Amino acid sequence: MVVGAGLVGRACAWQLQQRGHQVQLLDPGLNGSPDPNSGSWAALGVLMAQVFHRSSGRGWRLRQRSLSLWGDWRQQLGAQGWPLAWRPGLLLLASGADDLERQQRLVASRQRQGLPLELWGQTQLDALAPALPAGAVGGLYSPADGQLDPAAAMAALLADGLRLGLQPICDRAEQLERHAGGWTVHTSGGQTLRADAVVVSAGVASAGLLASLGHNQPQEPVLGQALELELAAPTSWDTPGPWPGAVVWQGVNLVPQTNTGDPGSGRLWLGATLEPGDQADPAALAHLRALGGAAPAWLEQAAVIRRWQGHRSHPIGQPAPLLAQLEPGLLLASGHYRNGVLLAPATAEWVADQLEP
Ligand SMILES: Cc1cc2nc3c(=O)[nH]c(=O)nc-3n(C[C@H](O)[C@H](O)[C@H](O)COP(=O)(O)OP(=O)(O)OC[C@H]3O[C@@H](n4cnc5c(N)ncnc54)[C@H](O)[C@@H]3O)c2cc1C
Repeated sequence: MVVGAGLVGRACAWQLQQRGHQVQLLDPGLNGSPDPNSGSWAALGVLMAQVFHRSSGRGWRLRQRSLSLWGDWRQQLGAQGWPLAWRPGLLLLASGADDLERQQRLVASRQRQGLPLELWGQTQLDALAPALPAGAVGGLYSPADGQLDPAAAMAALLADGLRLGLQPICDRAEQLERHAGGWTVHTSGGQTLRADAVVVSAGVASAGLLASLGHNQPQEPVLGQALELELAAPTSWDTPGPWPGAVVWQGVNLVPQTNTGDPGSGRLWLGATLEPGDQADPAALAHLRALGGAAPAWLEQAAVIRRWQGHRSHPIGQPAPLLAQLEPGLLLASGHYRNGVLLAPATAEWVADQLEP
């Protein structure tokens, strides 16, 4: 049983099915009204693997593995009639000398690893339209990183899971109990469900579910707000040259929206704020909207057509993500903080590996 049907839970369920397991997926949001605090429905889907600041260790390995698995998963899901649009390319802008120096070090390190990262100078940046923030003094371009639509990925994983016999259960886990040879899950709807193994992927709520079993895995919410903008003059995307993918300015993602693969639709996702706690702060949103005072004129003039928010699950006292076999048949797959979309496939693979006989 997988508890929690965010992107991580759906990925785990699907991967377990690929390995021949019969899977129940438990989440009250499976009735089509997802939890408004869910991280996955709020995510922008930017996958930052190659531009990660480290070059070794668990975080690096998970990112590399996940980026590669997303390529395989896109093919597999596409072959079943669930194509996932992939917008390749990520341009991280440098806003000062320190940023530039960091980027130069990263490029040198990646080149030693044989990975394709490029430094872009002012002339290359000036050739892009619409104009980048005036303070950009250089950029790091990663052709292998990119962006996919998390909602489409979630729909695809669920639909293909159902095709493979997934049992969706629209209810909330309230209590987990060990019993001889497996686990009992009591739900708020009064159901008593049995499973040989349980994967807890309920985001921030995972900590509470595990506490009654004596497992201390504290996590806190970090709220993120995001916006969809409609540009006043969509044609400006095309002249003189469109962006090479999503652009990142001081930690904020600017993600061109298009159905055609050409970033010229005139719509853009902008996000996300980083707000400890679960209360949205209008000042943080205003700061995002203005790109911290660096918004070019075209961005200032764009109309806000949608605003949304969600919680990231941030582990307290441990590095993200929390991947642990807490007891035989009890797995935790949560606490992905800012990278759950990127890390979902590698997480699912780890979970499935733990349950191999
Ligand atoms: C604004 C924003 C932008 C982001 N952008 C990116 C990005 O660009 N790239 C990236 O990689 N990551 C991004 N993230 C982070 C990413 O969204 C999360 O890391 C990821 O979605 C976590 O997925 P999850 O499945 O673990 O948790 P969630 O998506 O939060 O899902 C948890 C699920 O558990 C269910 N649940 C809770 N309690 C119970 C219970 N008791 N019983 C059953 N079910 C329960 C909930 O209903 C929910 O469906 C972003 C996050 C936010 C908020």
